Amino acid sequence: MRPEDIDGLTVGGPLDLVAERRPGDALVYPDRNLRYTYRKLKEAEKGCAGADGGRLREAAVERHGLQTSVGDTTQIAPRESPTSAGAACPVRASGCYHLCCSGGLGSGLRRGPDGGRPWVASEGFRARRMRAMNFDPTDEQRRWRDLSRDFAQSAIRPRAEQLDREQKFPYDIVAEMSRLGLMGLTLPEEHGGSGGDFVAYNLALEEISRADTSVGITMEAHVSLGCSPLATYGTAEQKDRFLRTCATGERLWAFGLTEEEAGTDAGGTRTTAQLEGGEWVINGSKKWITNSGTDVTAGVTVIARTGTRENGKPELTALIVPQETPGFARGPGYEKLGWRASDQHPLFFEDCRVPEENLLGERGAGLRQFLRTLDGGRVAVAALSVGLAQACFDEALARARERRQFGRAIGRFQAIQFKLADMAMEIELARNLVLKAAWLKEGGRPFSREASMAKVFASEAAKRAADQAVQIHGGEGFMEGSAVARYWRQVKINEIGEGTSEINRQIIARSLLEESAEEAKAKMVAQ
Ligand SMILES: Cc1cc2nc3c(=O)[nH]c(=O)nc-3n(C[C@H](O)[C@H](O)[C@H](O)COP(=O)(O)OP(=O)(O)OC[C@H]3O[C@@H](n4cnc5c(N)ncnc54)[C@H](O)[C@@H]3O)c2cc1C
Repeated sequence: MRPEDIDGLTVGGPLDLVAERRPGDALVYPDRNLRYTYRKLKEAEKGCAGADGGRLREAAVERHGLQTSVGDTTQIAPRESPTSAGAACPVRASGCYHLCCSGGLGSGLRRGPDGGRPWVASEGFRARRMRAMNFDPTDEQRRWRDLSRDFAQSAIRPRAEQLDREQKFPYDIVAEMSRLGLMGLTLPEEHGGSGGDFVAYNLALEEISRADTSVGITMEAHVSLGCSPLATYGTAEQKDRFLRTCATGERLWAFGLTEEEAGTDAGGTRTTAQLEGGEWVINGSKKWITNSGTDVTAGVTVIARTGTRENGKPELTALIVPQETPGFARGPGYEKLGWRASDQHPLFFEDCRVPEENLLGERGAGLRQFLRTLDGGRVAVAALSVGLAQACFDEALARARERRQFGRAIGRFQAIQFKLADMAMEIELARNLVLKAAWLKEGGRPFSREASMAKVFASEAAKRAADQAVQIHGGEGFMEGSAVARYWRQVKINEIGEGTSEINRQIIARSLLEESAEEAKAKMVAQ
């Protein structure tokens, strides 16, 4: 592993635990709170694996959450430290002190006198390590991406045109994706999910959507909108009852916020829920709810008005409604411009009763919970847009190579080359925005503004890519049955669903002008 320079810290070697000597006799570790005095380190250095080394290790174990076991020998390797192989310490050139483990984790550094067993990095340490800047996906992320790409290109892409034409929900594809673990990629393993990280999920979603965005939105709406609120806000019992079969992908779960009068203005929700004799009685309707009417849908979480606050604003609460609940009905699916093989229905609630314990999260926190959910959803819709933009580019590049005019491939004309270059640049930018936002979320950092940026830029870049892909195809791109014509139809929804470009631009602008994205959004939906 080569050392890398990140924010002035050199990170590299087996554990990435690197101290940098700063003016003022102190060593500063990547974790800003972790400081060791230079004197202590010098003492530790003398004994290397001696008492001070032990203390230093103990402190590192405590502060960094590393797990160690009897027999470990920690080396405090000064900058001239040789490796066991006689090669230079991978970080010595940086002038750093490297707290390295005794072998293991791919280390090239020397082992302790007792042969030493490697340290095992804890969850916390892995999360911190992920935060180090590195454009390489982890092995796990790569595995999810490659698995998705293989499956999408072999099993989804060849059927995408037919799925769009027939507007049929692809049960067999979704079943296979469940078997592969994709339909529960980020959901907890203890509830049947795959336990993958959010970056991996977005990489996978990009690949699935590159083959077909109908399948992409089915996966996204299930994982991000349907299941993640259950996983985040559900009680243990709710997770057991509702999440378990959905986290495997065997059943689907939907999320119902949008209504006739409540689109961008989610606070305009009219659906009501009254508590009567230990039951919530729900009345009202929802529209365009994804995954709400398939044969495998297990239920929906709906946002309903459960009262009025002192300031006159509605109290909005999330309620779990299983599919077979009396008083809950679904209308027919819609004729759509895109996402035609995905499933959306209007939902109707007429004296629909669910037990009081079907409250999800806190009473009155429904909108706040949903907006948090939506931040993750926006990153995912941006990933879906990147996948679609990539599909446009794939088709455009192939056409530019094959189509001949004036005795040469059209890709030889500068006008076409510039279109390809612009598409490639924008896709790269959009992908980086998606991955940055996903990485921030995975690291537990604020990511609301970045989610909005990724959503706006990726959806609009995809629209431009679809437009240019049709242009590069000429009249052929205007024909029914041409992939780029389908992409051109499909791309528009990405600028609308899960927050329009307008509302996302407002979140970005307000966060720049006034306050953090989180505060700006809280004010916009203040109840
Ligand atoms: C295929 C599909 C699937 C969907 N799936 C789901 C789902 O699973 N669950 C769910 O709850 N919803 C779902 N939706 C709804 C979707 O999230 C909404 O369409 C979206 O939030 C926008 O709401 P709206 O369509 O009512 O637009 P409106 O709110 O009516 O907006 C119309 C226009 O006005 C603009 N506008 C509105 N307010 C402002 C403002 N304050 N400032 C500037 N411009 C403004 C908008 O940006 C837009 O351009 C789905 C929609 C579709 C089409």
